[in-house]
Amino acid sequence: MPRILLLHTGGTLGMAGGRPSALRPAAFFKTLKSRCPELFRLADIELELFSNLDSSEMQPELWSRLAAHLHRRLPEFDGAVVTHGTDTLAYTASALSFMLPGLPKPVVVTGSQRPLGEIRTDARLNLIDAVLSALQGPPEVSICFDSHLYRGNRTRKVKVSEYDAFESPNCPLLGTLGVDATFAPGLRQKGPFRLREKLEPRVFLLKVFPGLDPALPLALLPHLRGLVLEAYGAGNYPSDPSLGRSLLPLFQEARKRDVPVVVVSQAYRNGVDLTLYESGAAALQEGALSGGDMTPSAALVKLMQGLAYHRNRESLARFIETPIVGEMTERPPAVVETPAKKSRRAR
Ligand code: ASP
Repeated sequence: MPRILLLHTGGTLGMAGGRPSALRPAAFFKTLKSRCPELFRLADIELELFSNLDSSEMQPELWSRLAAHLHRRLPEFDGAVVTHGTDTLAYTASALSFMLPGLPKPVVVTGSQRPLGEIRTDARLNLIDAVLSALQGPPEVSICFDSHLYRGNRTRKVKVSEYDAFESPNCPLLGTLGVDATFAPGLRQKGPFRLREKLEPRVFLLKVFPGLDPALPLALLPHLRGLVLEAYGAGNYPSDPSLGRSLLPLFQEARKRDVPVVVVSQAYRNGVDLTLYESGAAALQEGALSGGDMTPSAALVKLMQGLAYHRNRESLARFIETPIVGEMTERPPAVVETPAKKSRRAR
């Protein structure tokens, strides 16, 4: 029988009603064995309690431990399933994808909207689908939820109380688990399976909004090693000094302090193009890095990792702006039109 490692980190999936009525982490493995015995017909499953937390408690130090644990134990198994709360699931899946380069087997993260012990739970199907995806799916960090398999670092939680809680707006599905289960081949990762567990947590994620007082993020800068700016649309932000709240001084001060600024978009679909509008171009001039179509959560953990491993500015910029584990769409190479080509086209 194939072997699957099932690591429980917590979340609604393993919770039970507490007092007065709030959900809290419960004895998960007992419920799992009684509510989902068919899971153990799919594979020889080794259960391990990594933590038992509401995922809003998740922290970078726990990601490092989780990645190290998976790196150490995965060689004994055909794949792994990580159960996790939905709130920070997309951050954790992104972090694991960057921390486990060269991953040779599937690591599938899943959770649920209703606890496993409840009648209308979605946990049973998500668990069964996650184990199947860990056996047959692509060798990368993915998220299995509501009959879909997503690339982990491309996914966002989009719904609080419906079963289809996740989407990956800029990346095709890695699998569909309907009557038949079909999987895409996924990433073809080069190089050996490594552990890159170091992260620099002194980063900040700032969402631009009308009325944002630039003095606030400017006051934060001395405490930061890196900043992700969730800008409007193609990477825009207020930059007209006559209107009083230009964010351009933030880019200028960040450059002076050698704090990299990665720009991503508030829009779900497509990504930033800093060459398109005046404010984006001004940010580029000040050394801003383009996060392309990365999700804000993927950009944030990529920056945490980049800062831990890349001391020099150019190598950090290359790391941020290059797809490492499918987290952003590769930009087509710029078409340089030679005069000869142009005149041929004109004819
Ligand atoms: N608060 C829960 C968590 O993230 C929500 C969930 O699991 O759906 O742990």
